[in-house]
Amino acid sequence: MERLYFVCPVTRRTIDVGVVTEIGTLLRIKSEKLRTRCPACGNTHEWIVREAVLPKAA
Ligand SMILES: [Zn+2]
Repeated sequence: MERLYFVCPVTRRTIDVGVVTEIGTLLRIKSEKLRTRCPACGNTHEWIVREAVLPKAA
């Protein structure tokens, strides 16, 4: 299972959005949007799944 992280556009911090998925699922939904409340700045951001940061791949 992969945990998805996104970069907050306001604080530039990498945040854990609490979404865990399998890599196969991830590839299937990579064009979908995730709308999540950001723990770093408190705003709601919309991210495209393919913009996710995978720490293992970094
Ligand atoms: Zn944010």
